[in-house]
Amino acid sequence: MYIDVLTQIGAKAVDQTFIYHVPSNLEKNIKVGIRVKIPFGKMVIEGFVTKINNDVTYDKNKIKDIIEVTDINPVLNSEMISLGKYMGDHLLCSLVSAYQVMLPKALKAEIKSNIKIKYNKYLRRTKSIEEIDNYIKNCKYQSQINLLCKLKEGDILLTSMTSSVKTILKYNLATIVYEEAKRYNYEGISNYKKVTLTDEQSSIVNEVVSSFNTSSTYLLYGVTGSGKTEVYMSIIEEALKKNMTAIMLVPEISLTPQIVGKFISRFGSVIAVLHSKLSDTERYDEYRKITNSEAKIVIGTRSAIFVPFSNIGVIIIDEEHTSSYKQENHPRYNAKDIAEWRSQYHKCPVVMGSATPSLESFARAGNKVYKLLTLTNRVGTSTLPSVQIIDMKDEVKKGNFILSSTLKNKIKEKLNKKEQIILLLNRRGYSGIISCKECGHTEKCPKCDIAYTYHKTSNNLKCHYCGTSKPYISKCSNCGSTNIKDYGLGTEKLEEELHKLYDAKIIRMDVDTTSKKGSHQKIIDDFGEHKYDILIGTQMIAKGLDFPLVTLVGVVSADASLISPDFRASENTFQLLSQVSGRAGRSENKGEVIIQTYNPDHHSIILSAKHDYLSFYKEEMKMRKILKYSPYYYMILIGISTKDYNLGFKEANKISNYLHTTLDKETIILGPTMANMFKINNVYHYQIIIKYRTDDKLLDSLKFIDNMYKQNNKIEVEVDFNPVKI
Ligand code: ADP
Ligand code: ZN
Ligand code: ZN
Repeated sequence: MYIDVLTQIGAKAVDQTFIYHVPSNLEKNIKVGIRVKIPFGKMVIEGFVTKINNDVTYDKNKIKDIIEVTDINPVLNSEMISLGKYMGDHLLCSLVSAYQVMLPKALKAEIKSNIKIKYNKYLRRTKSIEEIDNYIKNCKYQSQINLLCKLKEGDILLTSMTSSVKTILKYNLATIVYEEAKRYNYEGISNYKKVTLTDEQSSIVNEVVSSFNTSSTYLLYGVTGSGKTEVYMSIIEEALKKNMTAIMLVPEISLTPQIVGKFISRFGSVIAVLHSKLSDTERYDEYRKITNSEAKIVIGTRSAIFVPFSNIGVIIIDEEHTSSYKQENHPRYNAKDIAEWRSQYHKCPVVMGSATPSLESFARAGNKVYKLLTLTNRVGTSTLPSVQIIDMKDEVKKGNFILSSTLKNKIKEKLNKKEQIILLLNRRGYSGIISCKECGHTEKCPKCDIAYTYHKTSNNLKCHYCGTSKPYISKCSNCGSTNIKDYGLGTEKLEEELHKLYDAKIIRMDVDTTSKKGSHQKIIDDFGEHKYDILIGTQMIAKGLDFPLVTLVGVVSADASLISPDFRASENTFQLLSQVSGRAGRSENKGEVIIQTYNPDHHSIILSAKHDYLSFYKEEMKMRKILKYSPYYYMILIGISTKDYNLGFKEANKISNYLHTTLDKETIILGPTMANMFKINNVYHYQIIIKYRTDDKLLDSLKFIDNMYKQNNKIEVEVDFNPVKI
């Protein structure tokens, strides 16, 4: 018997498999989708079996034997094998990278320090209750009697071999059994109680349930606190009743910790949890619950979309607008696309939910590609908070650089009332952006309407979309003021300032304070128990948190996200402001939100303050149309990276010229330009952006380029379909 083996080595060149011979004693163990250990040059490596051949045409003397078989059951089932091929074809990723990304580390084809299954040892009764009782009658050792009484009720977890245990084993009253241990324990607090759905919620649940067994996509648009999570849970419950399984995707478990608690308290042990904060062993244990059919529901982040459930009843994607559903490195897949593929395969609906749907999804709902479901109101007596916009230009004149007088006074008022406060300061992408302290003007590229980025090394302002640049300016091009600064205030400085102003208990949540395992959950639980009055944080605090005592949310600066050099800056700002506002007033107490900004007239700020998604959608779509962005145009980003500055420049131009000659006249090719992060670790990054509506020649041209550079190890060329960040 001969087999084709797909390995990580050689993957970059082509998706070439290597032929190996299977010694006859191992033949019966060979199946497609298992891993085998093989000699490769001087190394021993692991690979996936992709094909079984009875004979080969090569010189058989040159074919080596496999060393051993790793798995009894395939780690890749037939669905995963075809999905991998689809990904390879449509994302231009290597086949092996597609397979590896589907699996937890323990099951990837790679030689690693062992991630082993842990077994617990149990003492189990082998005799009838009567026989045990007879023994107890004649026994004079209390410790043995205690043990036997416990044994009558069920298995006992053995931590040490006491003399009583030994005696009981000697008399054959019990035996030792081993069972797989589960190392992941959810440690959050949950006081979840099941609710009765409102009519609006029930009719949505019914609609989705009636489409079980068809591959359709729903967009559930519902304001924050309108009860989407309850809807998801009821849909999943119906799927379980019909003996089907369910996948529930969340953006990042550390961002939505409370949802896991709700799911675990409602569904218990049929849940497997998969997210990036798990250790490799915990992840392996959770994954095995899926492969051994113990779990019926998986709740997890992006890669949980690949779990090998059979008979999927529904796939739910919460906060569908979140960029983390897209993987930012090879293979650059979007979990939403994988969900659609699996929905076709399993004939099941996909439900994507959000209070601020991505423009792409809402446009698809408008075109009836997705079915739109709407939840219009918050549940019960709670209403959306009132939002006040503060113009920081006026405040700066009064000497208030960080906190406006309004926000300062409100914080004091809430502290006096013993209510809680959340302050958002999003640092992402704010460094190096130039804006005027007098008039709030930000220097932007006229062709792209994107903020220029300040490049310190060349002292230039550059547009990362079309490549135009101009020298750094010392005067505002709008009002002529020289009071221009690169904008900068971080959460730590904010914390310091608050301590100066108030005698309050303050906790900060950002990447620096949550790197330790469990620290994130602890901050949330502590804040939930009112051990702190004020929670400061980055966008990490914007999503999914439900604290009834929070009545004030302050956005210290709405501008950082607004002026980031990305065509989605307005959309991201609208989403962020809406989400963080949604944290206020989630119970009887009315919520208040204060947004500080130098751009109080910007439509994303005004409309988020009015909770007016529909107007924002219309306004933003107009801009996208004029500037030819998604969703009017599809976008592709070709990334070219190399240590050789000149080679990068030359090859990037070559690629661009090639595209100009092969693609449709209507297709727009921008660049090559230097990428946003041009030099990282001495590697230079160039990029070309393609905008198109339809182009029959596109995929073939991209495949051609991809193939041309695959064997070249001086330069890397990667194609990113529908990039979420530019
Ligand atoms: P969303 O996911 O849309 O932000 P949630 O599902 O978290 O909203 O619901 C917000 C709050 O309202 C939660 O505390 C939830 O328990 C409660 N809730 C949702 N639906 C109902 C209902 N039908 N009856 C009572 N309370 C509900
Ligand atoms: Zn100005
Ligand atoms: Zn430009």
